[in-house]
Amino acid sequence: MMERSLNERKLDFDENYKRVLDQIEQAALRSGRRPQDVTLLAATKTVPVELINYGISRGLAQIGENRVQELLDKYDALDREHCQVQFIGQLQTNKVKYLTGRVSCIQSLDSVKLAREISRQGEKAGAVMEVLVEVNIGREENKGGVDPDQLYEFIDEIRRMPGLAVRGLMAIPPICSSKAEAKRYFSRMAQYYVDIKGKSMDNVSMECLSMGMSSDFPEAVECGANLVRVGSSLFGPRA
Ligand SMILES: *Cc1c(COP(=O)(O)O)cnc(C)c1O
Repeated sequence: MMERSLNERKLDFDENYKRVLDQIEQAALRSGRRPQDVTLLAATKTVPVELINYGISRGLAQIGENRVQELLDKYDALDREHCQVQFIGQLQTNKVKYLTGRVSCIQSLDSVKLAREISRQGEKAGAVMEVLVEVNIGREENKGGVDPDQLYEFIDEIRRMPGLAVRGLMAIPPICSSKAEAKRYFSRMAQYYVDIKGKSMDNVSMECLSMGMSSDFPEAVECGANLVRVGSSLFGPRA
């Protein structure tokens, strides 16, 4: 198949965006929530800036990048007046300094060492960095995220760090063979989220439950996600 031109990709985006918003709306209503309470974050790895900015002009208000270098390469050209940038990929401690002042949230916090550096860089910039704690909900080896058994202890350990503020949880469940299996992971995440919220810990607010990608975002919303991270269903398959 011939590679699609930028113009074709823009037309594809319009159609995809409408469909994704519609699916989010239907899933929100099925779970008894208001569609506007679910945020769509566009996962933009490998997507050219011109197509991202087109998406922003059509209404995208949140984008997420995975790699620090790619984020820096795109950053100046992004229409940041109309869109916030978040970081959603695995993060090395020595790269945190490039994110302060650039991203509104780091969704992939999963170690005390990383938390210390985020807090240190936040303080240095005179800012409080918003973070989500990534949970390894499938307890998979070689995958980012805090072990669910250590989640409460972990949050308790990082929540007093002055340069960061915990705003919620994020998860990437294992690849599932059925929607029912995916929903079990999502529901478990929602339980942690609600439980931690109920504890009202100082300097911890559960505002964001980030889960669901192209293959499963309607199920995630049905289970309680209020932010979904969608890439290929918006921009087409990644080259
Ligand atoms: C790429 C990515 C997504 C989106 O994946 P799609 O399957 O393309 O929707 C979501 N979250 C993270 C962390 C990603 O890296």
